[in-house]
Amino acid sequence: MRLRLLEASDRLGGNHTWSFFETDLTPAQCRWVDPLVAHRWAGYEVRFPALRRRLGTGYRSVTSERLNATIAKELDASVTLGAAVADVGPERVVLSSGTEIRAACVIDARGIRQSPHLVLGFQKFLGVEMRLAEPHGLDVPIIMDATVAQHDGYRFVYLLPLDERRVLIEDTYYSDGSDLPTDRLKTRALSYASLQGWQIAEVVREESGVLPIVLAGRYEKFVEENLQSAARIGLAAALFHPTTGYSFPDAVRLADRIARAIGPGAASSDIVRAVVTSYGREVWQQRSYFRLLNRMLFRAGLPQHRFSVLQRFYGFDQGLIERFYAARQTPLDKLRLILGKPPVPILTALGCVSETRMLKQAEVVQ
Ligand SMILES: Cc1cc2nc3c(=O)[nH]c(=O)nc-3n(C[C@H](O)[C@H](O)[C@H](O)COP(=O)(O)OP(=O)(O)OC[C@H]3O[C@@H](n4cnc5c(N)ncnc54)[C@H](O)[C@@H]3O)c2cc1C
Repeated sequence: MRLRLLEASDRLGGNHTWSFFETDLTPAQCRWVDPLVAHRWAGYEVRFPALRRRLGTGYRSVTSERLNATIAKELDASVTLGAAVADVGPERVVLSSGTEIRAACVIDARGIRQSPHLVLGFQKFLGVEMRLAEPHGLDVPIIMDATVAQHDGYRFVYLLPLDERRVLIEDTYYSDGSDLPTDRLKTRALSYASLQGWQIAEVVREESGVLPIVLAGRYEKFVEENLQSAARIGLAAALFHPTTGYSFPDAVRLADRIARAIGPGAASSDIVRAVVTSYGREVWQQRSYFRLLNRMLFRAGLPQHRFSVLQRFYGFDQGLIERFYAARQTPLDKLRLILGKPPVPILTALGCVSETRMLKQAEVVQ
């Protein structure tokens, strides 16, 4: 198969760290993404005002640097950098230079798009990777330290110990709005480091993100927006975990399905569109429960009390937590999550149950 990858930037993979739990993927999937993985840990920790816990689920991180080096080497001359795409169709791409490229199969992976058919909250963050003067003493990531002061919804700090002295500190928020005051967040990340008693020798890099959290949506209308164009994948196709906005596991699962469907040399836009739409429809239906939980998280309680929902969640057994992040919960998991004393006011929670109602309310606001 002849493949061509067009990227507007001067390197592949942007400026990100993509993390995932090893239980998000099958062992075979973990093996084929392994060349992209730059960091691995045997577990992780969470910290809340009333709960501190270490879990034994393996955690892995892919870095942009590693992704760029691995894919550029693998695809070599098939990669064209600095190629800004102005228009795509099912069998053609037009570059901003005016050059037209024709292909039997075009896949559009240009990242997140706005859609009037999705009602969103946001997970947003600014991460500062720093080298410390002394070892930080962490042996596993802390994926939520919610013992920090709460601002702008649910705030927590996410920490990846990249080596003995290097750490990525992300000041993170589950917020209603998508604005990202980067200077303020950077100050908070730096002061978190000094509160731990860490002396910063060097700020190595920064990364920031505003990830979508889906509260409600009309999937069929969302798909219809794009019927005349090339098949979309990634965030452009709303293929991400509804509660974290993380898209890496979905990208791996979908890549597997596309590879199986097209076989050697038989790629066509029609085949890929059929695979993407059926995967998208399947996960949209399976994940209606996550959208319900998101509505509870974002709309049922006071923003400053959102942390208590996550604190309660981390009290469950490791298997339930793994299945939640892998988006493959059992009916019993779903029941257990909502049984018992709810961490949000019951009457407001009942008002958030209907997805259609939230969509209608959002239409009125628009
Ligand atoms: C800082 C950050 C950290 C994240 N961390 C995680 C994580 O830990 N785990 C996880 O699963 N998810 C994470 N995510 C969420 C999600 O996985 C990423 O946003 C992911 O990169 C989305 O993939 P994508 O392919 O849809 O879009 P993108 O990664 O945005 O890729 C789009 C690509 O298309 C290129 N492009 C755009 N327009 C054009 C054009 N007109 N012509 C040519 N090229 C174009 C861009 O330059 C870019 O390289 C993170 C996101 C961010 C921003």
